[in-house]
Amino acid sequence: MKEATGSTAAIAALSSVRAAAGEASGTAYLCVTCGTQFAESAKPPAHCPICEDERQYVNPDGQKWTTMEELRASHRNVIKEEEAGLHSINTEPKFGIGQRAFLIRAEGGNVLWDCVGLVDDATIARVKELGGIAAIAVSHPHYYTAMVEWSRAFGGAPIHLHEAERQWVMRPDPCIRFWSGETLALHGGLKLVRTGGHFEGYQVLHWPSGAGGRGALMAGDQPQICMDPKQVSFMYSYPNYIPLNGSQIRRIVECLDPLPFDRIYGAFFIRGKGIVPTRGKEVVLHSADRYLRAIRG
Ligand SMILES: [Zn+2]
Ligand SMILES: [Zn+2]
Repeated sequence: MKEATGSTAAIAALSSVRAAAGEASGTAYLCVTCGTQFAESAKPPAHCPICEDERQYVNPDGQKWTTMEELRASHRNVIKEEEAGLHSINTEPKFGIGQRAFLIRAEGGNVLWDCVGLVDDATIARVKELGGIAAIAVSHPHYYTAMVEWSRAFGGAPIHLHEAERQWVMRPDPCIRFWSGETLALHGGLKLVRTGGHFEGYQVLHWPSGAGGRGALMAGDQPQICMDPKQVSFMYSYPNYIPLNGSQIRRIVECLDPLPFDRIYGAFFIRGKGIVPTRGKEVVLHSADRYLRAIRG
């Protein structure tokens, strides 16, 4: 009896601390299909706008939700070195869309590029060993997942998103910094470039010291690395096969062409890799050219 009273008092104290800090109470549910974590609520949200958008899809068995606690019990993150200064973070078994995140070493602190739904103690400990996280940037809303939870685990690291995607943030938080314009210089020579296309505020990350100093493009979903890593593609929706138009393709090329890069890292482990290892710029230009020829009426 005494214990029950004690814990009730502790919960009440915790709620008042949270209320004082302006934090909502409840559970921050995650959508099982896309992995997006939503703002705290007493019961699961009615809909997932990201899945209901024509670029995604709702689980054919109906909208399903999970919690971080459940995810921690059933999944784990595999952290693997891809090259000097770059680790991939991949949730196993597959969760949400199945994308990977990357931890990039840079002067001034590591940057987490893209994001995954699971944050657990083992991940936090390993990432801390690798130097922690100074800033986060996510290519587009399909990979926002648990970015706020990641930020909170690493001292409220700022999350840089393009302002055109404000409507897709399902868990607003002061750590999210919306930027405007076409490029944003981060620390250590890293740069975000807004290309549009798949999403209006779609952003890639240029890592100039990647690929042994030849430069790497952290592309996420666009350009999307194909089964043949000598080809990339560009789509408004990948699962629903909705193409982009010619002016959008030309704009993406205009944004990427000036960046010095040789290697491209995509969002998925395609055939265990998901990398255009070399001649990445040529692959982009050639693939865009072929795409434009294909859609010319
Ligand atoms: Zn969803
Ligand atoms: Zn996407």
